[in-house]
Amino acid sequence: MFRLSGVRLRHCKNTADCVPVRMGVPKKIVIPMSMHIGAPARPVVKAGDAVKVGQPIAENGGGLSSPIYSSVSGTVKKIDEIIAVTGAKITTVVIEPDGEQAVYEEIKPPVVTNREEFLSALSNSGIVGLGGAGFPTTVKLSADVSKIDTIVVNGAECEPYITSDTRTMIDDADAVADGLAMLMKYLEVDRVIVGIENNKPQCIASMKKATAHIQGIEVRSLPSLYPQGGEKVLVYHTLGRTIKEGQLPLDCGVIVINCTTVATISKYIKTGMPLVERCVTVDGSAIAEPKNVIVPIGTPVLELIEFCGGFKCQPRKILMGGPMMGISVPDLTMPVLKQNNAILAFDRKDATPPKETACIKCGKCMERCPLKLSPCDISAAYKKGDGASLEKLKVNLCMECGCCSFICPAKRNLVQTNKLAKVALREYQTKNARQKEGNK
Ligand code: SF4
Ligand code: SF4
Repeated sequence: MFRLSGVRLRHCKNTADCVPVRMGVPKKIVIPMSMHIGAPARPVVKAGDAVKVGQPIAENGGGLSSPIYSSVSGTVKKIDEIIAVTGAKITTVVIEPDGEQAVYEEIKPPVVTNREEFLSALSNSGIVGLGGAGFPTTVKLSADVSKIDTIVVNGAECEPYITSDTRTMIDDADAVADGLAMLMKYLEVDRVIVGIENNKPQCIASMKKATAHIQGIEVRSLPSLYPQGGEKVLVYHTLGRTIKEGQLPLDCGVIVINCTTVATISKYIKTGMPLVERCVTVDGSAIAEPKNVIVPIGTPVLELIEFCGGFKCQPRKILMGGPMMGISVPDLTMPVLKQNNAILAFDRKDATPPKETACIKCGKCMERCPLKLSPCDISAAYKKGDGASLEKLKVNLCMECGCCSFICPAKRNLVQTNKLAKVALREYQTKNARQKEGNK
C-alpha cells in the first residue's frame, strides 16, 4: 500500500534551540470537556467551587474518554459552552485563577507493581496522545499485549515550525527513556524503535545516550520526508509493515506512541501530577518573539501570544498545529488544548494562498501521496457528485496530510476538496444503507 513517498518541506525549526519557558498564570482558564478522541468528559465541579492544580474537574465520559484536571488554583466561575475549532459545540469549565498555583492535596505517586496497576493509574492521569492526535493513552495501552511485539516511538515531528517534541527529546530524554522502560516492563514488549527524522541530530544523539542502558531500544534515524510522523507511514518506514484499510497498528503487532506522551507517562507515575500543562511552540512570521512555552491547559491563545511579545504585524492566519495539518483558530479566546503542540501566526505574505489554475494532468499528486490515492480523480468525482467513484477511489483513507496540495504545480487545493469529499462519501454511503434497509 505504501512506498517511500511524501514531500520535502522547508523545516523552519526556528525554535529548536529555545529551551521551553514557563508562562505566568493566565487571567482566565477555559477548559473544554472534549480534548480527546471519544466521549466528552463530564464536569464534576460547579460555579463557586474552589479548585487546586491537579484537582479533578471532569470524569471520564464513558468508554473512549479521558478525565480532566484543573491546571490552576482558583474558583470555578461557570460551566459554559464554546464552539470549538472543529465547529462542534462543547462544554467548558471556566476558572478564575488566584495566582497561587496551590497543588491539590491528594496528589501522590500511584502504587504501580504490575500491568493492571499501571493501566489503572494511567486511566486517572488525563494523558492523551500529545503529538496532536488526542487519543486517550490508557485505551491505546489496554490492548491485548500478546499481539504486540514492538513499540514505535514517534519522534519524527515532521511538520515545519513545531519543536515541542524536539525539546522533549533533548531536555527530557531521561523521562522518555524511563517511560519506555515502564512500557516495556508492564506491557511485556521487548523491542522499541524510536523514529526521529535525520534533521534532528541533537535529538538522535540525546535519545541514544539516554536509552543506551536499556536493552531492546533502537534509536532510528529516518529521512526528513513529510509526513514521516503519520502513524501508517512511520510503521512502514520503521518496520516495513503495512497497516491495511480498516486496520489499526495493533493489528500489525505495533503500538505507536508519541515521545512527549512517553515522557509525560513517566512523570505522572513518579509524581502523581496528572496532565495539566504542556509545551507549545509559538512561531510564525507574525509572532514577535517565537519560543517554546510551558502553558497551563486552557490558557486563551491570546494570552499565550502576548507572552511571546504579541504580534509584530497584522496576523492573517493563526493555526493550532503545523502549517500542513493545523486547524485555523477563528477566535483568540480559544483555549490551548491537551493535544496542541503549536500555535502559529502568519502575516499576509505567508497566509495568502496561491491562485489555483487548471489541472495539467501531471500526476504529481498521485506520485507523492503516501497512500497512493489519486487526488486529481477524487477532486473530479467530488465535483460531479459521484459517490460511487469516491468510494472506489478510497477517499476515506486520506489522512489529510496535504502533500498533494503542496506538490501540485497548478496550486489546486486538493486536501480541502478531499475533506469535503469524505463528508460527501459518508452521506452517499448512509443514503445507500438506508435504501437497502427500505428494500428489505
Ligand atoms: S492529503 Fe490525502 S490524498 Fe493528499 S497526499 Fe495526503 S493522503 Fe494523499
Ligand atoms: S498535481 Fe495538480 S496539476 Fe498535477 S495532476 Fe494533480 S491536480 Fe492535476
